[in-house]
Amino acid sequence: MSAALIDGKAFAEGLRGRVAQAVTRFQAEAHRAPGLAVVLVGEDPASSVYVRSKGKACREAGMESMEHRLPDTSTQAELIALVQQLNADDRVDGILVQLPLPRQIDDKAVIAAIDPAKDVDGFHVVNAGRLAVGEDALVPCTPLGCLMLLKDRMGDLTGKSAVVIGRSNIVGKPMAQLLLGESCTVTIAHSRTQDLPDVVRRADIVVAAVGRPEMVKGDWIKPGAVVIDVGINRIDADAGKTKLVGDVDFAEAAAVASAITPVPGGVGPMTIAVLLRNTVVAARARLGLAAEPGL
Ligand code: NAD
Repeated sequence: MSAALIDGKAFAEGLRGRVAQAVTRFQAEAHRAPGLAVVLVGEDPASSVYVRSKGKACREAGMESMEHRLPDTSTQAELIALVQQLNADDRVDGILVQLPLPRQIDDKAVIAAIDPAKDVDGFHVVNAGRLAVGEDALVPCTPLGCLMLLKDRMGDLTGKSAVVIGRSNIVGKPMAQLLLGESCTVTIAHSRTQDLPDVVRRADIVVAAVGRPEMVKGDWIKPGAVVIDVGINRIDADAGKTKLVGDVDFAEAAAVASAITPVPGGVGPMTIAVLLRNTVVAARARLGLAAEPGL
């Protein structure tokens, strides 16, 4: 391995520390803590774990965490009624509805019901549109976390050639918009892209957000490129155990790249840290307070 390891865990810890300081300042100005409401519908075990860790991270940063659990038989109207109640609640600065939702509920309708000023996941079309036209927006947590890691590593990204593999609304598309906003030359690759290895070989920056274990091989990487691996895939390992791997073949890519995120410990820890950051940003903006420079 010759690539430097991009330590997302350490960066996320630093960001969470800065968020905690920002929470103290917010409390002094607003006489209350920023509040994040997390809504979980049903009992999906992975979603329950995410919701618990979001609540814990929130409290550790000094914020108020409000958890709302609805049964998996809930209707779309019941969930939207809860979202509207949270929209109207002044103590709530951020609203996060944990996805996926049960089949009878349309994700898009629920996201559309969230007040864009409280949309700390950045999934509302108003925030997606603002990001696209370069206005202040609440930006999806995972791609914003990736951008923070890239800027920390590379400094100014102007003129770099970036390839984003994946075009989801949650990761790929906002990632491409953020890189464009940094004046990169951006290519978005996806399942129908032809000659993907050749496309990736042109990139100074590779962001892989596909969901296919170790798909991106070492000989796809331009020597010296920086590789951000968003993928989280559980695969079988030795002795009947499983392990987490990314979308990039780490050992191969690390021999060619100049820097790379590991899985786990790369992008993963950034998502919750940026969620906390977005909640403080939303809280300050709602009260008309100046933005925190350190976030
Ligand atoms: P998604 O399934 O919504 O999108 C996957 C994208 O990959 C699609 O746009 C598709 O076109 C593209 N794709 C599929 N097969 C391809 C192929 N053979 N070649 C090129 N492109 C291909 O997934 P998502 O929500 O964007 O998540 C992507 C990955 O990132 C998953 O592994 C997910 O678990 C992970 N993820 C991690 C975090 C985190 O916190 N680190 C957050 C969100 C998602």
